[in-house]
Order: sequence, then structure tokens, then C-alpha cells
Amino acid sequence: MPPSKSSKIKKVFGIFGNPIAHTLSPLMHQTAFETLGLPYTYVPFKVQNHALEQATRSLAALGISGINVTIPHKKNIIPFLDEITPTASKIGAVNTIDNRSGRLIGHNTDGAGFIASLREQGVDPAGMVVFLIGAGGAARGVAVALLAAGVKKMVIQVRNINRGRYLADHLSAHFSDVEMTVKQMAFGKNEPIQTKGKILLINTTPLGMKPDDPLPFDSSFIHTGWVVADLIYRPYETALLLAAKKRGATTVPGLGMLLYQGALAFKIWTKEKPPIEAMRQSLLSAFSDSD
Ligand code: NAP
Repeated sequence: MPPSKSSKIKKVFGIFGNPIAHTLSPLMHQTAFETLGLPYTYVPFKVQNHALEQATRSLAALGISGINVTIPHKKNIIPFLDEITPTASKIGAVNTIDNRSGRLIGHNTDGAGFIASLREQGVDPAGMVVFLIGAGGAARGVAVALLAAGVKKMVIQVRNINRGRYLADHLSAHFSDVEMTVKQMAFGKNEPIQTKGKILLINTTPLGMKPDDPLPFDSSFIHTGWVVADLIYRPYETALLLAAKKRGATTVPGLGMLLYQGALAFKIWTKEKPPIEAMRQSLLSAFSDSD
């Protein structure tokens, strides 16, 4: 009898999260493995909070080669790892675990994934003035990567001033030479931005996922020469990005960050060059299937 397909699988990867049913990571990574002819598989694991320690400690015992980590475990998984990279430590969250001969190493590729999505559009964040809307988990990863990439100034715009100050204090502790300001704002009602620098505006809030959401930023203040990014990847182009495009800005959709954070995890695990276009097409086809 010929060996079954599963007996040919040499490595297992996966993702821990809860909920996990809608994650696109299995599709993206499986596509990458198949494109390169790698005999690997990728499995979504629904892990509840109380089982996180046990699930993480099982990785070495089961010989699982690598794991992505998503909501709500990115922070809470850290104590169960053997080591985390300096970047993951600055962000305070892990989205990728590499099992190196039984040692679990925590990485964070979210911020670097965002920077790669900017560079793909020809945008170099060094020296730019960043307007960061929102101060949650994704904002932190993106902000650390931007500060490491040499942005000049950062303005954090939030509805909850304490959350904004908390993020700014955390960032200032690691990047003391960058000018950091926190502004409380009523979403969609902004004051004109008085600055001469090259502006990068980033929406890190979920505002824009639903068709009736207000804009997270008053688009009449956006000008030609601005770069406007949105972390939301569904819809592919949010109302903010469509409005920014009309105003002459360069726009960066959230699909790029989703793609490149996955590609960077793939590289850490396999040491192979990620098949970016095949991975991108898998994400785009999933979106068109669900429309
Ligand atoms: P999070 O930790 O819950 O943070 C959300 C932030 O948005 C908080 O600052 C929150 O403010 C603010 N916010 C939420 N609802 C708001 C509203 N109605 N008006 C104004 N501000 C609001 O979430 P997250 O994990 O950072 O994710 C944020 C977004 O990024 C989501 O849309 C997610 O899908 C997207 N994301 C994309 C990628 C990618 O690969 N493209 C990766 C990660 C996340 P408060 O502090 O006041 O609650």
C-alpha cells in the first residue's frame, strides 16, 4: 500500500488563538509550503486562556516546529517561552514561536511586517512625522517598528487619554530621543495638523471595518504627499483609504501587514525565501470567496 499523504509530512506548524475559525494564516502558510514543495502542514489550534501554559509547554514534547500566536494570547504566552527577541520584548508581545531543538524562542513580526508593507509602496518611514490613531496591541507593534526605523516625531491620537499616555510612556522608555505627543480626540473631528514634516497617518483602530463606521480621521485635512495606512484588511480598502486616495495621498492597505508578518514568520521557521505573490493571492482569493 502506498504511504498516505499525512505520513509524508515532515514538520507541523500552527496558530494558537481564540476564536480561531476565521484566521487566514493556515491558508497563507499552506499555500507557501505547497508553492515551495515543502512537506509541511499548518494547523489552527483553539486554545482557551486556562490551557495556554499547557498548550505552549506541549510544543516541544510534540515536536511542533513553529506556532503563530494571535488574540488573546500574544502577551500572556511570554512567561512560558525560553527566550524572546529584543523586538518582541520592546513590543511586549509575541506573534511567532520558533521551536529550536526544544527551546521556544518568541518573535514579533507584526511591526516589521507593517514596515515591509510601507516599503512595498515605496515609503521609507525614516524622518517622517507619524500620526498614530489608536493605542491598542497592534498600535504598539507598529509604533516600536516605526521608532526603530527612524521616524522623527510621533503623535498618538486616542479617545482614551490614559491608554494613549501609557503607550507613549512605554515607547519613550525605549526611544527617548523621539518627540512624542498624546492627543485626545473626537473621532472624525480633527484640528488641522500644523507640521512641515512628511506625514504618515495610520489607523490602528477597528473604525472602518463596518460600512456605517465614522472615519477615524477628518479626510479634509489630508493632502497630496501624505502617506495614509490602515491596519484593517477587510475591506481591502477602507473608507479612510478611499478618501485619502481622492485627496492625492499614497495609501497602504492592511493586507500588506498581514501578508508580511506571515512571510517573516515563514522565513524564521523555514529559512526559505517566502513566495510572496502566492501568499498574497491566497489572501485575496479568500476575501473574494467570502464577499
Ligand atoms: P485593540 O488592542 O483592541 O486596540 C484597538 C484600539 O482602537 C484601542 O486604542 C481602542 O481605544 C481603539 N478603538 C476601538 N474602537 C474604537 C472606536 N469606536 N473609536 C475610537 N477608537 C476605538 O485591537 P488591536 O489588536 O490593536 O487591533 C486593532 C485593529 O488592527 C483591528 O482592526 C485589527 O483587525 C487590525 N489588525 C490588523 C493586522 C494586520 O495584519 N493588518 C494585525 C493586527 C491588527 P480604547 O483604548 O479607547 O478602547
